[in-house]
Amino acid sequence: MEKIKMTTPLVEMDGDEMTRILWKMIKDELLHPFIDLKTEYYDLGLEHRNETNDQVTVDSANATKKYGVAVKCATITPNAARMTEYNLKEMWKSPNGTIRALLDGTVFRAPIVVKGIEPCVKNWVKPITLARHAYGDVYKGTEMKIPGAGKVELVYTAEDGTETRELVHNFTGAGIVQGMHNLNDSISSFARSCFDYALDTKQDLWFATKDTISKKYDHTFKDIFQEIYDKEYKTRFGEAGIEYFYTLIDDAVARVMKAEGGFIWACKNYDGDVMSDMVSSAFGSLAMMTSVLVSPHGYYEYEAAHGTVQRHYYKHLKGEETSTNSVATIFAWTGALRKRGELDNIQGLIQFADQLERATLQTIESGNMTKDLALITSLKDVTVLNSEQFIRAIRENLEKALA
Ligand code: NAP
Ligand code: MG
Repeated sequence: MEKIKMTTPLVEMDGDEMTRILWKMIKDELLHPFIDLKTEYYDLGLEHRNETNDQVTVDSANATKKYGVAVKCATITPNAARMTEYNLKEMWKSPNGTIRALLDGTVFRAPIVVKGIEPCVKNWVKPITLARHAYGDVYKGTEMKIPGAGKVELVYTAEDGTETRELVHNFTGAGIVQGMHNLNDSISSFARSCFDYALDTKQDLWFATKDTISKKYDHTFKDIFQEIYDKEYKTRFGEAGIEYFYTLIDDAVARVMKAEGGFIWACKNYDGDVMSDMVSSAFGSLAMMTSVLVSPHGYYEYEAAHGTVQRHYYKHLKGEETSTNSVATIFAWTGALRKRGELDNIQGLIQFADQLERATLQTIESGNMTKDLALITSLKDVTVLNSEQFIRAIRENLEKALA
C-alpha cells in the first residue's frame, strides 16, 4: 500500500513520562506504516525545556502560528518535587499556559463516546464539548478581609485623572470583599473561537451567564457574543444549519441534564472550571477526553485532556507491565491530521483520521481495552490489554479496514 503524502508539516510537541512512551508507540504502530508523516518536531520533555530555558516551548508555539496545526503530548508542569527530580534551573511555567498565552486561544474539551462506556446521564448519547474562557474573573481577582465598620468602593481613575466611584457596601461589621475584571478583547476572542469551532464541527453553540443579576459584568459577555454573532456569524450559522443559543446559566445547567448532547457549551471561566469536571467525570474517564486549543486567528493545537500518567510511568521504569489508555492521545493525532487534511485538501489524510478513530472505537467495542475502561464498562467478556497490546489490537483493526 502506498503511504499517504502530506504537504505541510504538523507541529509535533513531544512530552513527558508515560504519555511520551505512548507517543512513540502510536507513531511507530499507527502512523508511520500508513503515512509519510511530515512533522516539525519540538521536544517539550522537561529535560529539554530545562536545557533550552523553556525557549523550545515558545518556539513550538511560534511554529504553530506559522503552520496552523499542532499536536501535543502531555507535559509535566514543574512543582517543588520536580525541581529535585529533574534538577531544574527554574520552576518553568506550564507549557500549556505559555502556548495558550502566545496563541490567545480557547480550549475545547470533548469526550470520546464509545459503546460500552455509558455516561452517568443516560440521555447523553452524543458528546458535550465544553469551552472554558481562560482569562480573568475570580482567577485574577483581588480580595480583602474587612476587619470592621467602614465603606468599600470601586474606584476607576481614568488616564486624565478623573475618578468614577461605585459603592460596594457600607460595612457595619467585619466582612469580605472581592474585585475582579475582564477585558472586552479577551471576551471577543473567546466568542470568535467558539463561533468558529461551532462552524468547524457543525454543532450548535450554547452560552450562558447570570446577566439578570450581573447587569453590567455578565451582561457585557452576553452583549459581546450577540454583537459578534449578528455581525459576523449569523448568516454562516444559518447556512450550516446550526444555532447559537443564549440562556441563563441555571437554565443552561437544567437543560444540559435533559439534552442528548451534540453541542458546544461555552462557559465563563468559573462555570467552565466547575462544569468541565462534571461533564468529563459523567462521561466516564479522563483518559477518554480530548482537548483542542482554537485561536481566533485560526491556529489549532490538539492534545489529550489528561496528564503524563506519572504513576504508570514509574511502574514502566521498574519494568512492570502498564495498561495505560492511549485513546485520547490517538485522537489528538487524528484531530490534527484531519485538520491538516482539510486545510491542505488531502482527502486521504481526512479518511485515514476517520478510519483510525473507528478502528480505535471498534477495538474497545469488541471488548479489548485497557484496565481503566475495563473497570467501568458495561460490556461482558472483556479482555484487559497492556499499553502495547492495546495499540497493536487497534493496528490490526486498522489494517483490516484499510485492506
Ligand atoms: P494524570 O496524568 O492525568 O493522571 C492521574 C490519574 O488518572 C492516573 O494516575 C491514572 O489513574 C488516571 N489516568 C489518567 N490518564 C490515564 C490514561 N491515559 N490511562 C489510564 N489511566 C489514566 O494526572 P496527574 O498524575 O495529576 O499528573 C501527572 C503529570 O501530568 C503532572 O506532572 C502534571 O503537571 C501533568 N499534567 C499535564 C497536563 C497536560 O500536559 N495537558 C494535564 C494535566 C496534568 P490510576 O493511577 O489510578 O491508574
Ligand atoms: Mg477544575
